[in-house]
Amino acid sequence: MLPVARSLLSDALKLQPTNSMAWYFLGVVHKNDGRIADATDCFQAASILEESNPIERFGSMLSKPGSAASATTSEVPDLPSNEMGKIVEQTFQRYSSSDEAKRNGSGVAIVWFRNDLRVLDNEALVKAWASSQAVLPVYCVDPRLFGTTHYFGFPKTGALRAQFLIECLADLKRNLMNRGLNLLIQHGKPEEILPSLAKTFEAHTVYAHKETCSEELNVERLVRNGLRQVVLPPSPGQSTSLSSSNHPKLQLIWGSTMYHIEDLPFSTSSLPDVYTQFRKSVESKCTIRICIRTPTLLGPPPNIEDWGSVSRGMRFIGGEAAALSRDLLKVYKATRNGMLGADYSTKFSPWLASGSLSPRFIYQEVKRYEKERQANDSTYWVLFELIWRDYFRFLSVKYRNSLFHLGGPRKVEARWSQDQTMFEAWRDGCTGYPLIDANMKELSATGFMSNRGRQIVCSFLVRDMGIDWRMGAEWFETCLLDYDPCSNYGNWTYGAGVGNDPREDRYFSIPKQAKTYDPEGEYVAFWLPELQALPNDKRNFPGKSYINQIVPLKFGNITSSGDKDSASARRTAFRGKQRKGHMR
Ligand SMILES: Cc1cc2nc3c(=O)[nH]c(=O)nc-3n(C[C@H](O)[C@H](O)[C@H](O)COP(=O)(O)OP(=O)(O)OC[C@H]3O[C@@H](n4cnc5c(N)ncnc54)[C@H](O)[C@@H]3O)c2cc1C
Repeated sequence: MLPVARSLLSDALKLQPTNSMAWYFLGVVHKNDGRIADATDCFQAASILEESNPIERFGSMLSKPGSAASATTSEVPDLPSNEMGKIVEQTFQRYSSSDEAKRNGSGVAIVWFRNDLRVLDNEALVKAWASSQAVLPVYCVDPRLFGTTHYFGFPKTGALRAQFLIECLADLKRNLMNRGLNLLIQHGKPEEILPSLAKTFEAHTVYAHKETCSEELNVERLVRNGLRQVVLPPSPGQSTSLSSSNHPKLQLIWGSTMYHIEDLPFSTSSLPDVYTQFRKSVESKCTIRICIRTPTLLGPPPNIEDWGSVSRGMRFIGGEAAALSRDLLKVYKATRNGMLGADYSTKFSPWLASGSLSPRFIYQEVKRYEKERQANDSTYWVLFELIWRDYFRFLSVKYRNSLFHLGGPRKVEARWSQDQTMFEAWRDGCTGYPLIDANMKELSATGFMSNRGRQIVCSFLVRDMGIDWRMGAEWFETCLLDYDPCSNYGNWTYGAGVGNDPREDRYFSIPKQAKTYDPEGEYVAFWLPELQALPNDKRNFPGKSYINQIVPLKFGNITSSGDKDSASARRTAFRGKQRKGHMR
């Protein structure tokens, strides 16, 4: 796994060579690998960069093609750092409490940060604080996250998400330090690190947020087992005979959805298989819990000499500060089907996936916005989409590992191809269909793709190419900044027609989608500069001016004038198994 981590960090540094934390992490990888000279060089680079206060940001990767680190790129969020700082300060104030009285615990508690890299609305953090006299916040850089995907061996975390994660950690560290704590960043498996820390600091409890998918559940089980091996000294007044059963506890807390799992009006095993039924039921029968207020002061931390890494002077876009600076509620409904630019949709997803942003916080902010300004379609629509996110997470509890199986939750039997040439053409954006190619190039270059784009490329891969949908899902797992197993595999099973709801079986016609959502060809010309010289209405239908189409479309091609081209009309016989689907 070390070589994979090394190559990912090297890739990240190619994109952002002034990132001191990436140099630092690369140094750690070299050190663990016994390459002491390389490690020293990296640590030196990290320290020099830190001193010289670099200002390059993650957002510089959301760039125009051919200018990966160009300064002309759009950043998300696109705000000067002082303005971002002001927003963050005000937001933190709104969601903080100075109620020291709630702290009546003793000893040390550990907070194990996972996909909840935030201070605001973080119940694990607040519970650890309330139950202790000192809190030790820990993040484990788990080498398995830099391994390979399950079936097809792609990198499990692509360079851009690795970079985003580093930024989130730096921001979290800074926010914790502002409240009198710090973040201990350790490299290794949580099941080894946490018991060892619990032993050293005699921590009575490890608090963390609960996950739902098998790999994460397995780590939870291993951590719990590891903690059982640790025997704590007797607490004051406790008899020594009882103390042999005195182990640190693992306390897991639900905190990743808007609706709390315990507030659902049905058990997860009876979760409706139709999204609308789920939504109507939770909207009418449940209330969303209010955000957990964070104490203004969380310290002190236990005494630690080396906290793992430094972030002084860095200005990052990953992290809670950036997440809190987005304000797009007013226009969302009208623009959410867009594909180009930073502001057609909220772009909350990377921060939701890393946990820098709490969905309950978005809900409360939407309600505040509606009260102070106005309720409109857009404000409701953001919540509507977030309920989809909740739904996929609850589905992962109901359907467990079948989400990752070829036949999906319904165990659908179908013939799929694993043709490497076709898959690579899709992956690399060389299919001959500008709309597909532009979207796939955007994904590789930025780690992001619009929801519309995701639906279109998914439909093309599984229905026009007949490729095993898991290859697409695993490639998304590698690349997406917002990768989340529940949303990713949930959406892919829907796209492939193997999801829990049999009605979610759609075919996206590329010509139709191009005409509706990119009529001027602006999006494809942005990502495929070779199309810029063509008339606008030809950019999505370039004919011989572009590379050959790798497969015919299942329902034939359509020219820019809307006619079916005769060659593709003859070629509609689809090579793989014909799968029916509703045409979009
Ligand atoms: C094949 C495929 C794979 C996907 N993989 C992921 C993934 O790994 N992680 C991920 O967060 N989303 C995934 N999505 C859902 C969706 O595309 C993204 O959440 C959305 O594009 C993120 O952009 P945004 O934050 O601007 O969304 P907005 O349109 O502004 O929506 C607001 C929020 O609602 C949630 N949301 C919106 N649509 C969906 C949806 N269909 N499913 C679940 N949540 C949704 C997201 O948290 C999003 O941030 C996938 C969709 C498809 C079709």
